Amino acid sequence: MPAFLCTACGTQYPPSDAPPKACVICEEERQYVPPTGQGWTTLDKLKIDRRNSWREYEPGVTGIGTDPNFAIGQRAILIETPNGNVLWDCIAFLDAATIATIKARGGLKAIAISHPHFYTTNGEWSRAFDCPIYMHAADKKWVQNPHPNIKHWEGETHQLLPDVTLIRCGGHFPGGTVLHWAKGAGGKGIVCSGDILAVTADRKWLSFLRSYPNWIPCSVPEVKAIGKAMQPFAFEVLYGHYFDRVISANAKGVFEKSVARYIANIEGTARKPGE
Ligand SMILES: [Zn+2]
Ligand SMILES: [Zn+2]
Repeated sequence: MPAFLCTACGTQYPPSDAPPKACVICEEERQYVPPTGQGWTTLDKLKIDRRNSWREYEPGVTGIGTDPNFAIGQRAILIETPNGNVLWDCIAFLDAATIATIKARGGLKAIAISHPHFYTTNGEWSRAFDCPIYMHAADKKWVQNPHPNIKHWEGETHQLLPDVTLIRCGGHFPGGTVLHWAKGAGGKGIVCSGDILAVTADRKWLSFLRSYPNWIPCSVPEVKAIGKAMQPFAFEVLYGHYFDRVISANAKGVFEKSVARYIANIEGTARKPGE
């Protein structure tokens, strides 16, 4: 039996004779069913005309995305540390070339995922690399294809490897997580944020929405909590949810001013009337 994937978000469902009636992730207010209707595919079908492409951002930090684009256009990041490799976030498409390439670089010690829009085919990746999948327990109910390698971590931070920390920010999803690697950016630190901290179109700011496609803002207390969660961590570079959504310098400063700008706009203190 095939395991069907939603073509709009890339979520894989348990094997079944017929596609599921609906995609739970896309029916929810943070995502959407396209106006053309719900679509389904399988990994085997994707293998006909898709491949993964790679971009090295800096030593030890390499983006992996699917070409042509699939689903939300998610991009994963391979982080190579002296203590083992981590796959940050998960893309739906996995093929033999991707498995061989990552295995040649030492395989994976763990997969860590920011939020349910990147859960995609996490079980397939975990099987291929025989490694655990870390997801925050607060988003447990969104797992559609449970795999025994899933580890639901709880609390505010989780030390994944020496120098690699998962940080629960919340916001977009209650368990919304970012990854901090202290040795990235030449030792100045990097953050991989998915769209928990979303890089804006001008690449000068971050924003914090409950839903990006449906334009639902996070609340002020939610964004204040994000500010507090990130406060202890230093970082120079921030990698967002697409290949080209990167803050390449002074990312912590950009983050702090973005939290302040967001709160001022929601509270109505960002400008005088008429400005
Ligand atoms: Zn979907
Ligand atoms: Zn999302």
